[in-house]
Amino acid sequence: MLKLNQVSAQYNILTGYVKAVDKVDFEVRKNEIFGIAGESGCGKSTLLKVMYDLINYPLEIASGSVEVHATDRKGLPVIYRNGEIHKSWWKDISYVPQGAMHVMNPVTRVRNQFFDTISKFHGVKNKKTLEHEITEYLRELELPPDVLKAYPHQLSGGMRQRVLIALATFLHPSIVLADEPTTALDVVVQRGILTMLSQVQKKLKNSMVIVSHDMGVHYQITNRMGIMYAGQMIEVGPTDRIFNEPQHPYTKMLINALPRIGDNSQKEGIPGTPPSLKNPPAGCRFAARCPHATELCRLVEPDRVNVGEGHYASCHLLN
Ligand code: SF4
Repeated sequence: MLKLNQVSAQYNILTGYVKAVDKVDFEVRKNEIFGIAGESGCGKSTLLKVMYDLINYPLEIASGSVEVHATDRKGLPVIYRNGEIHKSWWKDISYVPQGAMHVMNPVTRVRNQFFDTISKFHGVKNKKTLEHEITEYLRELELPPDVLKAYPHQLSGGMRQRVLIALATFLHPSIVLADEPTTALDVVVQRGILTMLSQVQKKLKNSMVIVSHDMGVHYQITNRMGIMYAGQMIEVGPTDRIFNEPQHPYTKMLINALPRIGDNSQKEGIPGTPPSLKNPPAGCRFAARCPHATELCRLVEPDRVNVGEGHYASCHLLN
C-alpha cells in the first residue's frame, strides 16, 4: 500500500542541513496498523510528513522515493509517487496531524470544516446529501451529530481528536497516517481514541501508520512497528517480536525501561543524548550510548540484518 525506498529528507536551514530522515526503507501492508516509535526529535513526525508528501520549505527530500499504491476511478491500479501524492489526499491517503486544537479553524463550525475539506479535494456535492452522509458516519463512529454545530473551542481535546479522525476517514482512504494521536490526552480519553482508531481500521480494512513516542500505544494497537533513532529506522518487525525479542541494543534498552505490572525493580533511562542531526557521526549513530560499541561501530554504518520473519535490525552484533 505504501512503500518507502531509501528516503532521505532534510531541513534546509541557513547554516546547513538538518538530516532528519536518513535512508529509510520499509513498507506498510494492506489491512495493518504500523507503528513508528522513537524519542522526541528522532525524525518520526518528519517521516510522516514525507509519507504524506507534505513537503514545505525548509523541508526537502534529498533522495529516495515514496509510493502510494491505490486504484483509480475505474478500479485500475495506480501508483502515486512523492510530488504527486497530493492528488490522492483524503481519498487514498489521509493525515491526522498532531495537536487537534491548532489544526482546526477556530472560527469555523465543524460542519463547515467537513464541507470545505471534502469540497476542496473532491468537488462540491449537494450540501444536504453531504450533511446526511457526514451525520451517518459520525453516528457509526459513536460521535453525537451535534458536534457539527460546534466551534472547535467548544469541544474537549478528546472530542476534537475524534472529529479529526472522522474527517480524515470520511472518504474511506486506504491509508491513514496519524501523528501522536493520543498526546496531551488523559489515560481514559487515550484509550477511547485508540479504540476508535482500531475500530475504524477494522471497518475500512485499510492501512494505518501511527507515530507515537509512547510504547504503550504501540503495544495496544499496532500489528508491526519500526523503531527510529537519529533519523534512521534501526529495527522493524511484528509488534509482539519487538516487545518480546528486540534485537537492536537501543530497542532492548527502550523495552527494558518500560514499567511492568509486578516488577518493582528500579527502571533506568538510556544514558546520554542522541547525536546532532546537523552533523551526524560516521558509523552507527547509537555508538556513543551503546554499551556494546566497538571501533567498527564508530567507523562503519551497520547494514540491515534479517533476524526473523519480517523482522530486521541494523547492528554489527547481529552479523
Ligand atoms: Fe551498538 Fe555497535 Fe550495534 Fe551500534 S552497531 S547498536 S554501537 S553494537
